[in-house]
Amino acid sequence: MSKKKIIRSGNILFRRDPGFSTCPSCGEQFSLRRSRARNFYENVVRSLTFFKTYRCNKCGWRGFRSTIIMTWQSVKNLVLYLIIAVITIFIVRIVLQRMAG
Ligand SMILES: [Zn+2]
Repeated sequence: MSKKKIIRSGNILFRRDPGFSTCPSCGEQFSLRRSRARNFYENVVRSLTFFKTYRCNKCGWRGFRSTIIMTWQSVKNLVLYLIIAVITIFIVRIVLQRMAG
């Protein structure tokens, strides 16, 4: 549920397909394929994070790859959202205090 929210909320995060990236072990391009979770730990990581299990067709490397990347622009947007959120909370608190007083 939280995954959809992050992707929908604009340019903060970008989806990517690790199948189009290079293997971290042998450097072969387009050799990574989605792999099924082998144990409970992998299942938990897959369901709670953006990491999925991948396997290299060439060298047999197997591990987690992120399906989400963060860009510099997205980090700047995120900081901007946080600043706006903090200012909003600050203003709301002042208004509430005045109403209470
Ligand atoms: Zn490989």
